[in-house]
Amino acid sequence: MNMKNMNYKRAAGLAVVTALFLTGCSEKESKIAFTAMDTYMELTAYGDADETLQEAKERILELEGLLSVTNPESEIYAINHAGGADISVSAYTYELLDFAYTMAARTDGALDPTIYPVVDAWGFITGEYRVSGEQALSALLERVDYTAVQLLDKAVRLPDEMELDLGAVAKGYAADAVAEIYADAGIASGLVYLGGNIQAVGSKPDGSPWRIGIQEPDGEGYVGVVSVRNAAVVTSGGYERYFTDEDGNRYWHILDPSTGKPADSGLLSVTIVTESGAYADALSTAIFVMGPDRAEAFWKEYRDFEMVLLTTDRRVLVTEGLSAAFTLENEDYPLRWID
Ligand code: ADP
Ligand code: MG
Repeated sequence: MNMKNMNYKRAAGLAVVTALFLTGCSEKESKIAFTAMDTYMELTAYGDADETLQEAKERILELEGLLSVTNPESEIYAINHAGGADISVSAYTYELLDFAYTMAARTDGALDPTIYPVVDAWGFITGEYRVSGEQALSALLERVDYTAVQLLDKAVRLPDEMELDLGAVAKGYAADAVAEIYADAGIASGLVYLGGNIQAVGSKPDGSPWRIGIQEPDGEGYVGVVSVRNAAVVTSGGYERYFTDEDGNRYWHILDPSTGKPADSGLLSVTIVTESGAYADALSTAIFVMGPDRAEAFWKEYRDFEMVLLTTDRRVLVTEGLSAAFTLENEDYPLRWID
């Protein structure tokens, strides 16, 4: 099958960084841009922040070096190739894996950090895309089960045939690390843009909230905008990264751990707004898998995050905590509040 006509797009949740300064506001803008974790990243900070930005970039590269599934030097690679033996890991890897495990349990396995064999089979690691049949998928799913991960004292044990992928939470965790580095350096205003993951630090230099656009899937504009201070805004969508087969069927990179197939739960995208980037990242992926009904029930149970859901039938569902922060930009999408 010819998979060459694949599309690759990663610029979800584009930040509408309207740098409209009030007169008299002349704080210096520092910026650094680079690619890490397979993502174009841009860190902005106001004040004298060049050194801080360098430190933040180095931290992201350090995390990438620990968490990469393809780099033979990484800790995740070591766990995945340990043949069932215990692998000692750094505090960062341990903390993130522990967090991913907790979130997998909380989302009833909608997020599953052991999904790697299936992600790899679809070609999302190598870029050599292929469609897997039912039989192949059910064989692969026997190797997916987060409850088999054993978190020992500073070490991890994973059954021989299983493999980890923290791709659904790594950028959110990295964004939290950057926000902490900003805070330690006394930076009160900045924007951390890691692809679909945005971390708004403080307010804009003029004191107004950061405005983050929620992209119209396959469109040019924004469906809506959220205005936030000190918050993570993380979007997961099937339109971010996918390939198309000869018949025009699309296969995207967020998989349903119960079927092994691209999650097709009635959502085009999920945007989570909450304080922690890691929490937002875990939830954006998990809720994309859950679909709108389970998402609503989940939100009603926890209420410690807000969300904007775009459904496949082009409706917008927004939780009530965003009533002051969310504005609809495209009237073609009917809006319903969840409360
Ligand atoms: P992105 O990394 O594109 O911002 P996500 O945060 O939603 O998007 O993470 C998607 C990545 O997580 C996939 O590329 C894959 O590596 C992995 N993944 C896919 N489905 C799941 C899942 N159900 N649970 C955990 N990880 C997943
Ligand atoms: Mg995610």
